[in-house]
Amino acid sequence: MNNGVVIIGAGHGGVQAAASLREEGYEGRVTLIGDEAELPYHKPPLSKSFIKDSGAKPQILRAEAFYAAGSIDLLLGETVESLDPVGKQLKLVSGGSVSFDKVILATGSRPRVLPVEGGPLAGMLSLRSIADARAIRALAGEVEDIVILGGGFIGLEIAATLSAGGRRVTVVEAQQRLLARAVAPVVSAHVAARLAASGVRLLLNTVVNRIEGDDGHVSAVITSAGERIPAKMLIVGIGVVPNAELAAAAGIQTANGVRVDAQLRTSAPDILAIGDAASYRHWFTGADVRLESVQNATDHARLAARTITGHADTYSAVPWFWSDIGDMKLQMVGLTGGSDRQIVAGEPADNRFSVFHYSGPRLIGIESVNRPADHMLGRKMMGAGFSPDTQSVAGGSDALKAAFTDWQTRQPAPV
Ligand SMILES: Cc1cc2nc3c(=O)[nH]c(=O)nc-3n(C[C@H](O)[C@H](O)[C@H](O)COP(=O)(O)OP(=O)(O)OC[C@H]3O[C@@H](n4cnc5c(N)ncnc54)[C@H](O)[C@@H]3O)c2cc1C
Repeated sequence: MNNGVVIIGAGHGGVQAAASLREEGYEGRVTLIGDEAELPYHKPPLSKSFIKDSGAKPQILRAEAFYAAGSIDLLLGETVESLDPVGKQLKLVSGGSVSFDKVILATGSRPRVLPVEGGPLAGMLSLRSIADARAIRALAGEVEDIVILGGGFIGLEIAATLSAGGRRVTVVEAQQRLLARAVAPVVSAHVAARLAASGVRLLLNTVVNRIEGDDGHVSAVITSAGERIPAKMLIVGIGVVPNAELAAAAGIQTANGVRVDAQLRTSAPDILAIGDAASYRHWFTGADVRLESVQNATDHARLAARTITGHADTYSAVPWFWSDIGDMKLQMVGLTGGSDRQIVAGEPADNRFSVFHYSGPRLIGIESVNRPADHMLGRKMMGAGFSPDTQSVAGGSDALKAAFTDWQTRQPAPV
């Protein structure tokens, strides 16, 4: 047992897993392998500040000295090609092999590819990595007309950023509202209204049927409504797929990602999976999920380290997420799939409001626009299992806080 833990994927989950193993007292070897050549970096700024400012540098997750100080062997620019769970060895594309006692799969996800007539062409881009962000930033500096395919968080963040930078931006979304799978209709409508007011053109219920090119470079898109929209850059943001092929090829069970149990163990002994790549039955809803958020990746990483170091915790973190779209800070807590009643606190007209989602009497999620206090309190309330009544929600932050404090004082002391 001296080959230690090998973490595959040096993103948000992988780096946290390495840190957490040391924090949990793990003394064996820790090897972190990532296919990108640069020091691991924060992904959220890529669609926000990074593409706006040509001088912006990547925000690294940990300084280089951190890896040396923690005796973490960082192999960058190395892609794991295959994994042998029985022989406990993995192969690198570069030709080497690495033995392991345990593996944490933290391979993340990649952008869904658009199967559309006329493509692929130069100028058709998607955003996952710093290399993608650099390509978008460079081309955005040269073009006027940009089409973004997909009205999800990343597409809308990019739309707001590039439009504020003076580009003509059109968002083409197949659903009848923006962020349809993620937020309540009132939030979708609010985001759409503000983006439109800031100059972003939004085409809902619309798909791109064909792409036109000029000398191998995208020049226009033809929509399902028959409109021809000039575009020197087409950004495809239609969701991601989990990087689960490595696991599947190794005979590990997959289903919309690598299947893991409540301790993040896969179907193969000594192999765990975390973050965007992992799918699991969620403690909060009882449904199978695969979440794509920094919180999910880093909380998974902490738990994976505890599983490896012998603690039998089960995953019970409250899910949360944020997105910055122009002048809207959206913050979400909980999972709102089963929502049957919503209460809106605050005024959309003020660009500050929250939507509280309930399933029966139970609070299952809060979406906040520029109301960070609701979000922070929401995380505490949901972590504690408290569901405020309508009156407390309508009474604003102070009333909510008072109701929560009152409820806490009435809870039996832990034994
Ligand atoms: C532009 C952008 C903006 C985002 N904004 C937000 C936000 O505002 N809020 C939020 O909560 N989340 C946001 N996210 C999502 C968040 O970044 C992800 O959920 C998170 O990075 C997932 O962490 P992970 O460790 O699972 O995967 P990643 O961080 O993607 O790391 C996986 C790493 O593994 C590498 N890898 C894959 N296969 C191999 C292999 N075979 N060998 C070696 N290396 C491999 C990948 O290249 C990658 O570097 C954003 C994501 C993007 C792309």
